[in-house]
Amino acid sequence: MNPVHQVQSVQSAAGDIALVSPLTGRVVPLAEVPDPVFSEGLFGDGVAVDPVVGRLVAPCDGIVMHLARTGHAVTLQTAEGAQVLVHIGIDTLELHGKGFHPKVAQGAQVRRGDLLIAFDLDVIANEAPSLVSVVAIANSDAFEVVARTQADNVEAGVSPLLVLRLREGAEPPAGDTSPVETEARKNVTLTHAGGLHARPAARAREAARGFDARVEVRFGERKAAIESVVGLLALGAGEGATVELVGIGHDAQKAVDAAANELTREAPGEGGEVPARRLSPVPRAAVAAAPQTAAANAPSHTLSGVCASPGIAVGTFVRWHDAAVTPPELASGSPASESGALDKAIAAVDAELNGDVRAASQRGAIGEAGIFTMHRVLLEDPTLIDDVRHLIGLGKSAGYALHEAIRAQIAVLGKVDDPLLADRAADLRDIEKRVLRALGYANTAARALPEETVLAADEFTPSDLAALERKRVTALVMAHSGATSHAAIIARQAGIAALVAIGDGLRAIPEGTQVIVDADEGRLSWAPTPADIERARAERQRLARVREADRHASQQRVTTRDGRSIEVAANIATLEDAHAAVENGADAVGLLRTELMFIHRKTAPTVEEHRESYQAIVKALAGRTAIIRTLDVGADKEVDYLTLPPEPNPALGLRGIRLAQVRPDLLDDQLRGLVAVRPEGAVRIMLPMVTDSGEVVRVRERIDTISRELGRSAPVEVGVMIEVPSAALLADQIAEHADFLSLGTNDLTQYTLAMDRGRPDLATQADGLHPAVLRLIAATVQGAEKHGKWVGVCGALAGDLVAVPLLVGLGVTELSVDPGAVPAVKARLRTLDWKFCHERAQEALALESAQAVRAASRGNWPLE
Ligand code: PEP
Ligand code: MG
Repeated sequence: MNPVHQVQSVQSAAGDIALVSPLTGRVVPLAEVPDPVFSEGLFGDGVAVDPVVGRLVAPCDGIVMHLARTGHAVTLQTAEGAQVLVHIGIDTLELHGKGFHPKVAQGAQVRRGDLLIAFDLDVIANEAPSLVSVVAIANSDAFEVVARTQADNVEAGVSPLLVLRLREGAEPPAGDTSPVETEARKNVTLTHAGGLHARPAARAREAARGFDARVEVRFGERKAAIESVVGLLALGAGEGATVELVGIGHDAQKAVDAAANELTREAPGEGGEVPARRLSPVPRAAVAAAPQTAAANAPSHTLSGVCASPGIAVGTFVRWHDAAVTPPELASGSPASESGALDKAIAAVDAELNGDVRAASQRGAIGEAGIFTMHRVLLEDPTLIDDVRHLIGLGKSAGYALHEAIRAQIAVLGKVDDPLLADRAADLRDIEKRVLRALGYANTAARALPEETVLAADEFTPSDLAALERKRVTALVMAHSGATSHAAIIARQAGIAALVAIGDGLRAIPEGTQVIVDADEGRLSWAPTPADIERARAERQRLARVREADRHASQQRVTTRDGRSIEVAANIATLEDAHAAVENGADAVGLLRTELMFIHRKTAPTVEEHRESYQAIVKALAGRTAIIRTLDVGADKEVDYLTLPPEPNPALGLRGIRLAQVRPDLLDDQLRGLVAVRPEGAVRIMLPMVTDSGEVVRVRERIDTISRELGRSAPVEVGVMIEVPSAALLADQIAEHADFLSLGTNDLTQYTLAMDRGRPDLATQADGLHPAVLRLIAATVQGAEKHGKWVGVCGALAGDLVAVPLLVGLGVTELSVDPGAVPAVKARLRTLDWKFCHERAQEALALESAQAVRAASRGNWPLE
């Protein structure tokens, strides 16, 4: 049928509303609009046009119900009550009106074909991600699209586009055509640790950004615009506080809902990280993030502090003088030139931070990457920048204006009694340091540090640590700061011992003194006796020797004392990790988290980019196999190139293989890249978040088809992650269609115990050694054995030395751990007797708590 006739034939029904195209150009189906907010129908059903002429005309008679302040979108209401939104381009709100010339006013009565907005195609094409413009029915709950054009091209005001009809049973909407500045309000209780701290604030700002509405956050008497992260922090809304979100504008409700959603969820890595207890192979590191104070009876030349990163260190005490620079108060040039200098400096710092984000994510240091991303948000905070410009306007120099504006913001934060906010003041000081440096004020000469340095400061900022020669630093000690500070997170990721909140006593230690830091014990000893130093060095060396010996033996494959062979593989996310895996003696790669390879990209990877990345890793592995997991995006793993719609409960929403089913194009591109890697046997594919065998069968078919298309000769091995309780319970069915199973104990624990894996306050309870999780592991192994398939573990539990004997005792034959943990896990396995492990593991299944399981395991297999 001729597509246009299709529209016209349906049009004949009484009461139908025929819309002509408001734009001239190529027709684009809604699903292909490059913005999920539209393509997933959040704005209602409709169609899009890629315009070739800069004129938007009325698609029907009606009243201009809403005209965006920025002129990039307009909504008409027809006499029947249908609301037709036309949105020019993607992300064009960001152009702040540039290139848009509205020709009507809000409230005007218009006729089909009247010019509503003229727009400059070149400006928008240059500055926005896409010109594709959406025509959507804003009240799709009341009106349905009963026909749409299937013509390739349409002409504004002439070509039929859509036919709308009142839905059956729907009441004709009340004829309220008053121009709307809708208001929406919502109370939100901040349940997560730290309340309204920087990263939820930054995420809420991002979430509300895409909508046509102004959102304000109110807490008691105070209020702040959602664009100002500093303003939001200064509200001082702590854990348990209830804030009110007030939105005004066309999309008020959506903006408020999206922001509320971000304020009530906590992503991993925020406010501290999962304690290293589960992650570190070194027994002394048993308690990392948990704050500890020193024993009360510490000797007098000992200062106590809070452990922010575990370890023991001896070194020369060096104070990190980053002498505060005070820029001159008065500007030497005009306000315009100072303002220009400020813009340049901000752009330079933004580029520098962007580089730090990339470098950190390439190292797989996602927490650190998040910190620098947050600094980029602070750097463009409108409240802060407005204050700086105001001072520049009064004749102050750019540096002085920045210094003063930041001082004022810190003073506001200081009034709020919240240690987390005190840590955020450090972030602001860090931004100041960077911008002053870019303005040419600070001395950037690199410090020459002694070989073994214990570096001290009131507090370190992330940029200090980014510039540091980390190899020479054995420990960081801070007078202030907290275990949740960003410096603490970076120290943990870099494996440097760190003590915080030592107090002003730190100033009394003379530069150049020998000191001992025992971070686990929360102790800094200065002027120690030679015997103390010797003991500390001996302990540090003992730990280093153990590590070295383990490393030495780690290139050999492992069997238990009674001859059961266990593969120890590595979990990796980058090419650098692949090299680390080989150096540390990993037998294979048990999990490549591919989503982390592409996390900061603006567009989804192409087939060729997939292939190239995996091929490089296969080459680095020099003959070892790699289990490559298909993209596990969603929940805690966000990627820049996919703006997922806000979900009230993202951990239970679209993620892993579920997302791949909705976006088969993403999965297909990845599978094509994977199947093309050579040699053919080097790669196994693994599917995340599977819940039953049907999902496996469907993806397997797809892999087979692609393999055939690409002329592959050998079949690809396909494994399944068991990380959802249903998958563990149905392991026998899944194993029938899979070549192997791998237990993702991080998620399996989260979903079995209903405890968010990202919440630091639940970290000690969300323990994978809970008997309920152990029973699911046992069920998985039994299910797999029915079909002769092997089972591995790639969650963090695999690297937990207390868990290792139990996991192998339950029948697991592969453990995939962080590259650095491979030597210690192999060393542990060599000491075990499998039969004994098997018997004790059966007993563990009958215990009543994770603590009981841990205690029993420590009793059966003491750690050194
Ligand atoms: C897991 O859930 O245990 C796992 C290995 O996957 P991820 O941590 O990437 O979710
Ligand atoms: Mg997982």
